[in-house]
Amino acid sequence: MRIVTGEEMGNVDRYAIEQIGMPGAMLMENAGRAVSERLLAHYDADERFLVLIGTGNNGGDGFVIARTLKSLDRSVDVCLIPPEEKLKGDAKWHKELYEQAGYTWATFDPVYFQKADVVVDALLGTGISGAIREPYRGIIQAVNEAGAAVVAVDLPSGVPGDDRPVPEGALVADRTITLQQPKLSHYTYPGRGFYGLTEVAPIGIPPLAIANTVQTKRYVWKAADVVNHWPLRSADSHKGSHGKVGIIAGSETMPGAAALTAGATVNAGAGLTIVNTPRAVIPTVAAHVAEATYFARDDKIESFYENKDGIAIGPGIGFDAKGRETLAALVDHFEGPLIVDADGLHVLADMLENVQEREHPLIITPHPGEMAMLIDETPGEVNRRRFEVAETFAREHGVYVVLKGPCTIVAAPSGETWINDTGNAGLAKGGSGDVLTGMILAFVARYEGMQPAISTAVYLHGYSADQLYEQGMPLETMTASEIVKVMPDTFRAVGE
Ligand code: ADP
Ligand code: ADP
Ligand code: MG
Repeated sequence: MRIVTGEEMGNVDRYAIEQIGMPGAMLMENAGRAVSERLLAHYDADERFLVLIGTGNNGGDGFVIARTLKSLDRSVDVCLIPPEEKLKGDAKWHKELYEQAGYTWATFDPVYFQKADVVVDALLGTGISGAIREPYRGIIQAVNEAGAAVVAVDLPSGVPGDDRPVPEGALVADRTITLQQPKLSHYTYPGRGFYGLTEVAPIGIPPLAIANTVQTKRYVWKAADVVNHWPLRSADSHKGSHGKVGIIAGSETMPGAAALTAGATVNAGAGLTIVNTPRAVIPTVAAHVAEATYFARDDKIESFYENKDGIAIGPGIGFDAKGRETLAALVDHFEGPLIVDADGLHVLADMLENVQEREHPLIITPHPGEMAMLIDETPGEVNRRRFEVAETFAREHGVYVVLKGPCTIVAAPSGETWINDTGNAGLAKGGSGDVLTGMILAFVARYEGMQPAISTAVYLHGYSADQLYEQGMPLETMTASEIVKVMPDTFRAVGE
């Protein structure tokens, strides 16, 4: 599913209207109908609606919703935010249609909150710019304090459609029914925090309108995509069929990083996992991952990387000269997918020229702090422009960028981006990134295409955290080791 910004959605609408010939009022009718259908599905016949209508196009959708619900004998109050003269075009047309159908509305008054079970927010849509002005500011505050269920139409009022900052006082929805395409703000914080449960309601715009107007290529990697790219294990396969992979991880002070990465790789289905770690650390790591074989860090790296279907380097390796030499050799000579994570990224930072010349896939998995280090920015700045940062780096350096955090971004060198929406804050604990690296390694070693492999691994990693939470694991006590252990449940749930 294609993600768009508010501005891009405006272009899509305009194309549908002007080039395809769909009247704007018809699209507005479709939008209001689609939202009504969802409201009827979610709320019982005895629940009373209050539709709050702003003076832009979002308000026009609100009139359609009110008319549709009323025609089905649902209890609906309608409040318009003055001045009503501001309504124009299709929104004005739908207001008149509503009135001619014999229905009434009132000027906004907080007294209506008293009998509302569900407040429908049709106040501000993607047309918002800057700080939220009165009277919307006060009204939204009243909605936030009212205690009724709040359902936003398209996006919560005040939240922009893109990744610009969310102004003070935006509406906090329990549920959002997004029209036609998911909006970018649903995949970036703080915007995402305002949406609540979110669903996308198609309003009948042909894909052509999107293909011909939207420049960015951003998609959500969904459960169906995961299933379509599920790794197969044929009955007559052998361990060599499922990837022989190398992990360069761990050090005397960080043996756990190697154990977590390798444990994840093994559980994610890799045929053969070989761990490169300091000789002194091998027994410790091996005690945790019996299925892996081991390679002493001091031995010649050439004999480690030959015949591997994929290699991951970085978790807990530290920053020594040896690591630098090893990474340089891999970047220049390893002819398979190479994943660079954690400490490896710090080493990679001053060999970006070698990266450019590398002909085989390179995947980097930075958290925002590591991404900031790579581009000499602050983590805050990276998080403010997550999509742009990941996409630019991927394009300029010809690598896959897995920019981690809630809603991890996978940006491909082709300029396409896939977003992940599984996972939870239980993952915000040391070690969970190492697990992700192990999972990505297991998948890239077996897949033809890099992006489906990476996105599927990212999805399953987040899903594992969601799975643990659903099984009753509190977010506070979730650990990276538990993520590895719950992977069988994840594979069962997603793959069957
Ligand atoms: P559209 O621009 O498609 O009509 P909206 O429903 O989002 O979509 O309408 C925007 C409406 O909100 C316009 O009437 C505009 O004047 C108003 N508006 C825009 N920015 C703000 C703001 N920051 N605070 C309050 N109202 C705003
Ligand atoms: P470490 O290096 O300690 O293993 P990283 O920061 O590299 O940890 O990776 C953390 C992992 O947890 C990433 O996959 C990231 O996307 C995920 N994560 C962290 N915080 C959150 C959150 N609040 N919601 C969802 N996922 C998160
Ligand atoms: Mg990490």
